[in-house]
Amino acid sequence: MQDYLQQEIKFLAGVGPKRAELLNKELGIYTFEDLLYYFPYKYIDRSKFYKINELNPNLPYIQLRGKIVSFDTLGTGNKKRLIAYFSDGTGTIELLWFKGLSYIQKSLLLNNEYIIFGKPGYFGGKYNIIHPEVEDSLKSQNVIQAKLQAHYNTTEKLKKNFLHSKAVSKLVNNLLIILKNKIQETLPVFLLNKYKLISLDAALVNIHFPQNADLLKKAIYRLKFEELFYIQLNILQKRSFRIQKSIGYVFSKVGEYLNRFYQDNLPFELTDAQKRVLKEIRKDLGSGKQMNRLLQGDVGSGKTLVALMSMLIALDNGFQACIMAPTEILANQHFTTIKELLIGLPVQVDLLTGSTKTAARKTIHENLRNGDLNILIGTHALIEDTVQFKNLGLVIIDEQHRFGVAQRAKLWTKNDQPSHILVMTATPIPRTLAMTIYGDLDISVIDELPPGRKPIQTTHLYDSRRLRMFGFLKQQIEQGRQIYIVYPLIKESEKMDYKDLEDGYESISRAFPPPKYAVSVVHGKMKPQEKDAAMNLFIKGQTHIMVATTVIEVGVNIPNASVMVIESAERFGLSQLHQLRGRVGRGADQSFCILMTSYKLSNEARKRIEIITRTNDGFEIAEADLKLRGPGDMEGTQQSGLAFDLKIANLGQDGQLIQYVRDIAEGILDDDPELKNSDNFIFAKQLKKISSKKVDFSVIS
Ligand code: ADP
Ligand code: MG
Repeated sequence: MQDYLQQEIKFLAGVGPKRAELLNKELGIYTFEDLLYYFPYKYIDRSKFYKINELNPNLPYIQLRGKIVSFDTLGTGNKKRLIAYFSDGTGTIELLWFKGLSYIQKSLLLNNEYIIFGKPGYFGGKYNIIHPEVEDSLKSQNVIQAKLQAHYNTTEKLKKNFLHSKAVSKLVNNLLIILKNKIQETLPVFLLNKYKLISLDAALVNIHFPQNADLLKKAIYRLKFEELFYIQLNILQKRSFRIQKSIGYVFSKVGEYLNRFYQDNLPFELTDAQKRVLKEIRKDLGSGKQMNRLLQGDVGSGKTLVALMSMLIALDNGFQACIMAPTEILANQHFTTIKELLIGLPVQVDLLTGSTKTAARKTIHENLRNGDLNILIGTHALIEDTVQFKNLGLVIIDEQHRFGVAQRAKLWTKNDQPSHILVMTATPIPRTLAMTIYGDLDISVIDELPPGRKPIQTTHLYDSRRLRMFGFLKQQIEQGRQIYIVYPLIKESEKMDYKDLEDGYESISRAFPPPKYAVSVVHGKMKPQEKDAAMNLFIKGQTHIMVATTVIEVGVNIPNASVMVIESAERFGLSQLHQLRGRVGRGADQSFCILMTSYKLSNEARKRIEIITRTNDGFEIAEADLKLRGPGDMEGTQQSGLAFDLKIANLGQDGQLIQYVRDIAEGILDDDPELKNSDNFIFAKQLKKISSKKVDFSVIS
């Protein structure tokens, strides 16, 4: 069958070179196999025949059986149309054509039994169907007859060349005739039996030409099962190979640094979640295998502390550690926070960013090489080749999705032996998605906020309430609080967005005039120094309001800021809204998030606003986001390329199935890690095929 499937599509009956080129270009169908796996996007039930006297104007697509009793041509030129009067004995309906009139009239016979399919219209007391599908009742019994008719996505260009859904269906039919009894099973029999899956052959036939609704369901299930199963088997096997092969520095002891920090410097009791995650990390660090862990924790959950304590373990074992952050502001903030947390301890910490002066840079390079510097904090500057460590043992990457894969990879090859890696993200990823795109990493979750935080109150206001909103902000400022006002900034509409920001800044400056109020502004067009200067004024409490674009989105921690106003909130995605909101609610005071929108909201925007005002739970929001947008837009999936490669499964909707097949794959690998048993031979073969073709899902790190 392999040979058949890899044949070029142009050799299929009904295709030829010209159509082949269209199929290549428009749908990416190059081979028989591509067509076989080009699945319908919907099915229409054609099991029911309506009677004409049963029709009502609200029916969707319907099917009738009857005869054409007469033809008529009306109008001239552009307005010319063909009418066929169609009767089934209970009444008459008009079939209408505006194009291809003479061809259609020639191809249709009076008093022959036809099956008519289309959406009925109701006009002037009469029913009609415009451009119906017409099939010869007798002939249609000879092709593989499907009561649920499959519909395929095609493009305008294809339709112009008569490759509409029905034509694709015919091609698939031709293909299935050739492949009859030749489709080889891709899952072993024991698995089919155990999990009640239909054969690949039956699944492929029924996905295109379902014999009935039940078989269609089984076909979809079988194909989704297989697709997700092999993804998990692939990831899990790679992961187990990595763990087997990997060697990592053994951080066996907890010593001076961590102990003294714990006794003298720890400013508060760790949350249970922080304790649990630290335990997981310590276990990794002591295992002799390289740690490769993703730490997920909602904004404000206290990841920095976990990062610092992990680094102290590295120091206790004679190693250096570093943190890489995506922006200078964040790197600065980590540096300040960590230095403060370490006061009185003999730990050397330094900061390296794009703005570090040459002389200081030189000193840092030197101290890294001779080991005098214990912890380095910085931005991309850390991955430059000139940055050499004496013995880097642990690399921490904050807000990891902000970095490219290559950038990240560069950091942990800075030693002869790979350092331990902890990547941190405040963008919660739904579990099933994480299992798939980060399937190769171990995952820790901080699912608890430090005590005493009051949940942020989120409100949605229309633009017309702006003055009231300003009034509220004044009250908050009176109470000593600070305020963020954020404007969207999107590449495609950058110019207008800057205009909005400028206009907004102006009206805010007018409403909050000096000397009583001070307003600062930060946006992407400013030089880094200007940005930092404005940011610092706000951090130090010298300005009341910070007007900004999304540059403040990640990580910035200003506990005194208690209000986040998001302008044009309808233009932000859910996870972005959640990230922005996370900038407040960091102190002991009640915090607020105000979403400003115009009256005009799309349904989807309305849903997003509804979700974000209802819940503060990042994981719930991520799940909702995944369902709303699909995985293609989720952070992380772009890099993995995965979301686009799925033929039938849907990472947003098939969460349960993902977990299910992952467990099955795990069981199989536990018994036979290399898939050498004869029962499992077919797995190995399929994996080989998959990895020769597809993106490698596991190379996220
Ligand atoms: P994130 O996970 O978003 O990086 P941070 O590490 O910036 O969160 O922590 C947010 C705030 O919570 C900081 O002000 C930090 O000092 C505080 N914090 C962290 N852990 C605790 C804790 N266990 N108890 C109380 N406050 C904590
Ligand atoms: Mg953080």
